[in-house]
Amino acid sequence: MHMSIATVCLSGGLAEKLEAIAAAGFKGVEIFENDLLSFNGTPSDVRKMAADLNLEIITFQPFRDFEGLPPERRARAFARAERKFDLMAELGCDLLLVCSNVAPDCLGGIDRAATDLRELGERARVRGVRIGFEALAWGRHINDYRDAWEAVRRADHQSVGLVLDTFHTLARKTDLSAMRSIPRDRIFLVQVADAPAMDMDVLSWSRHFRNFPGQGDLALLDFMAALDVTGYDGLLSLEIFNDQFRAGSARSLAVDGHRSLIYMMDQLQSRIGRPNTNAVKLPPRSHCLGTEFIEFAIDGGNLPEFERLLGGLGFFKAGQHVSKAVSRWTQGNINIVLNADTDGFANAFNITHGTSVCAIGLRVADAKATLERAEGLLDYPFRQPVRPGELDIPAVRGLGGSLVYFIDPASDLGKVWDIEFKATAPSPAANGAGLTVVDHISQSMHYEEMLTWLLFYTSLLEVGKTAEQDVLDPGGLVKSQVVQSADGALRIVLNASQSSRTQSSRFLSEAFGSGVQHIAFATDDIFKTAAAFKASGVALLPIPENYYDDLEAKIDLDAALLQELQAHNVLYDRDGRSEYFQMYTQTFDERFFFEIVERRAYTGFGAANAQVRLTAQARQARAPGLPRR
Ligand code: MG
Ligand code: MG
Repeated sequence: MHMSIATVCLSGGLAEKLEAIAAAGFKGVEIFENDLLSFNGTPSDVRKMAADLNLEIITFQPFRDFEGLPPERRARAFARAERKFDLMAELGCDLLLVCSNVAPDCLGGIDRAATDLRELGERARVRGVRIGFEALAWGRHINDYRDAWEAVRRADHQSVGLVLDTFHTLARKTDLSAMRSIPRDRIFLVQVADAPAMDMDVLSWSRHFRNFPGQGDLALLDFMAALDVTGYDGLLSLEIFNDQFRAGSARSLAVDGHRSLIYMMDQLQSRIGRPNTNAVKLPPRSHCLGTEFIEFAIDGGNLPEFERLLGGLGFFKAGQHVSKAVSRWTQGNINIVLNADTDGFANAFNITHGTSVCAIGLRVADAKATLERAEGLLDYPFRQPVRPGELDIPAVRGLGGSLVYFIDPASDLGKVWDIEFKATAPSPAANGAGLTVVDHISQSMHYEEMLTWLLFYTSLLEVGKTAEQDVLDPGGLVKSQVVQSADGALRIVLNASQSSRTQSSRFLSEAFGSGVQHIAFATDDIFKTAAAFKASGVALLPIPENYYDDLEAKIDLDAALLQELQAHNVLYDRDGRSEYFQMYTQTFDERFFFEIVERRAYTGFGAANAQVRLTAQARQARAPGLPRR
């Protein structure tokens, strides 16, 4: 299938959009009339620009309010169309998208629509172009692809075909079975868009919230499977109207778009159980076994204080890198890498972002296959010079320019700690403060990046996503969405807000960009861990007394337990019979913090406690301009 994208999907001027579309590897583009109108040049200039970029202009759109017009307005509509045909000749484009009429005074009747389309089709034929008819979900009389198809079928003209649009079809939950019997050569174009499940009018939903396949909740694979039955292998074009996209970078959005189509075709193959000639051949989504390590970029000045914190949390320094100023701190199955090397990636990252997580190492079933899939999905592989004695660990660019490494137990990568590190101390008999694994990683990002990273994780790894949630920060609303593997081996919380006053946003300005804001470690006994922290002098985030009064009123809790929660500043949530315990360290260097959680069959993230925690953190935060506490 030929992959294309409509200019309306992206931000910027037309030239910038076309460059971004070509750079992302698309071969086709739909030109939106508004982009042409605001372009400072002639349609021939656009044609040349597209040709130079190796892009085919596949469609010009939209042509609105055409079919079923009362007699006195009908002639003008044809004259209007002729002017579009002139424009298309200059553009070098042979397909005009005609969307169904929304005018209140237009007349119904399939035969009337068919007659109009036939006449327009004949005019198009004379001009050497074609027209494609699309049912808008809010069309006055035609708002269902089955009616649009009936009008096209009755028009019975070689230059008149059907345009199918996943949004218009799936938003109204239109039955898909009729699609299977449409002859494939009568379908001129298929437009693809996803959207989050929302309860609102279809027009606003479509104009503001469409997103790329896989970013929303529409049953796109049902649609594609029905389309597959027709044998259609023509144009597949993204048509997204989205406010976040309009605020994002055209280049990165175009890549997201192409990635989403590759991923959708990949899923379609598994769905229909046979290869699709147009799909990119990819290894399956990578099964994630857990977080192997978290790497901090840190400068020598901050190192002692951070090492003290890690020591207080029960970590011990287990190894020193064979050739770099890099050390490994460990506890349970958690590895923290402190990279204070004055050369290379981590150093550059530290100069830009300060003390921060510069890389996450994921333990996967097959690291090589994971990288191969990432490359097929247009993710950005990262390579740096490998010194003698070092492993070439496969990696791709992740959030905010950080890295995601892939380690697997089967290859030498699984022995990275033995190969690249010299042991500095035998592991202590007691397991530190009882921390066992990385429970979840919380990342803060700009609002318009959220869908990018949702697609990045879900297309590459075998993870699902939760519904988007609103969290109340004292500075505004934070959107939160989780990607996680079914067994919980990997959980990543994505947070974004549009207000500049939320903790999530403050992190972005303090750290000069998106990144890991907190890491949650698991313990099997939160109170034992809390006691160990107390003994080592780790300061926890103080939780106000009111919280515990409220908890007592809300949940029937054992008095001794309540007292213990309060004594250790532990937050609590219960869902049915499952229980969740959380506590937080104070924020390090005004940037990030650690969370400790104990799950008793609990699968959430303590959303009920988020506001209390965020408010407590806001209280602790340094007011702008004041010295640090
Ligand atoms: Mg459309
Ligand atoms: Mg958390």
